[in-house]
Amino acid sequence: MNWDNLSLTQPTVVKMITNSLKKDRLAHAYLFEGGRGSGKREVAKVLTKSFFCENKSEVHPCLECADCKRIDSGNHPDVHVIQAEGNSIKVEQIRYLKKEFSFRGVESKKKVYIVEEAEKMTTGAANSILKFLEEPEGEALAILMTTQYHRIIKTIISRAQIISFAPLAPKQLIDKLMEEGIVETDAYAVSQITFDLEEAIQICQDNWIAQARNKVIQLVDEISLRPKYAFITIQEAWMPFFKDKQDMQLGLDLLMIWYRDVLRTQVNHDDQIVYIDQKLKLQDQALMLSQRKLGSNLQAVMNAKRRLDANTAPQLLMEQLLLRLQEG
Ligand SMILES: [Zn+2]
Repeated sequence: MNWDNLSLTQPTVVKMITNSLKKDRLAHAYLFEGGRGSGKREVAKVLTKSFFCENKSEVHPCLECADCKRIDSGNHPDVHVIQAEGNSIKVEQIRYLKKEFSFRGVESKKKVYIVEEAEKMTTGAANSILKFLEEPEGEALAILMTTQYHRIIKTIISRAQIISFAPLAPKQLIDKLMEEGIVETDAYAVSQITFDLEEAIQICQDNWIAQARNKVIQLVDEISLRPKYAFITIQEAWMPFFKDKQDMQLGLDLLMIWYRDVLRTQVNHDDQIVYIDQKLKLQDQALMLSQRKLGSNLQAVMNAKRRLDANTAPQLLMEQLLLRLQEG
C-alpha cells in the first residue's frame, strides 16, 4: 500500500495528509473516523512510514529501509498500537506505555501511537495520551481511530485533527470482497445489505449468502410459475433457513432487491442489477409484471420487514406476504 493506491478509495483523506506532509506540518494528533473497511488502518500505516522513513521521495515512503520494513511487519520499536483490553482502554495501559518508552533506549526521538477503537478510551486514558503529545522532547504523532465518532470525548475532538473517511461505495466493497475470495454473485448481493466490510465478510461465511440468494430465486420463481408450490417452499425451505429475525430481515432484503432488479431490467438499467447471473429470469419477470405490480410488491416486502420488527410471527408474516405477491 502507498499513497497512490489509497487515493483511489479515499482521495480527500490522502490529499489532506499528503499536503501536510509536503509542508512538513503534520498535526500532533489525528482522529480517523469512518466505517469498517474504509481504509483507516492502511492510511495510518502509510502515514507512519512517511513519518519515519528517511529515504522518502517527496511524501512517499521508500518501503525498503529498516523503518519501513519494521512498520510493515508490525514490530517497529517506536510505533505502539493500543487496543482495548476488555471493554475499555484504561489509563494504566497508557502509563505502562510511557514507562516502557522511558526504560528503553529508543532508536529515535520519534514516536507514533496508534489507538484503535478510540471511543473506548476512558477520560483518564484520553488525557494521558494527550499529555504525551505535549512532551517537549522529540516528535510524537498520535493516530486515533474510531467507527463511532459520536462516542469520542470532547477533549480529544478539540485537540485532534479530525479526518473523515468516506464509506465504501458498493463497487469498492464488491472489489474488496472479491479480493477476500468471495465470489462475484455473493459480493454483489451482500454489498446491497451492508456498507461494512467485516459484516459483509461474515454474512458470506459458510456460503450463507449464496444459499440465501437461492432461496429467494426459488421463491420468486414459484410465485410466478408454480404458485401452488410457493406455500410449501415457505414452510420447507424458507422458514428453516431464515431461522431468526435477523436472518429473516436479510432474506426480505434480498427479496426486495430481486423486485428492484426486475424494475431496473424494465427500465434498461442493467448496469445496476444485483442478481448479475439471473438476467434471463429477470427479463422474463420484467415482461410478466407491470410496473404498478412491482411497486406494490416492493411495498409489500417493506411492510413485512416493518411487521417483523413489530414482532409478528414470522411464518404468518411470510404467508401473508406471499398472498400479496401472488395477487394479480
Ligand atoms: Zn523507508
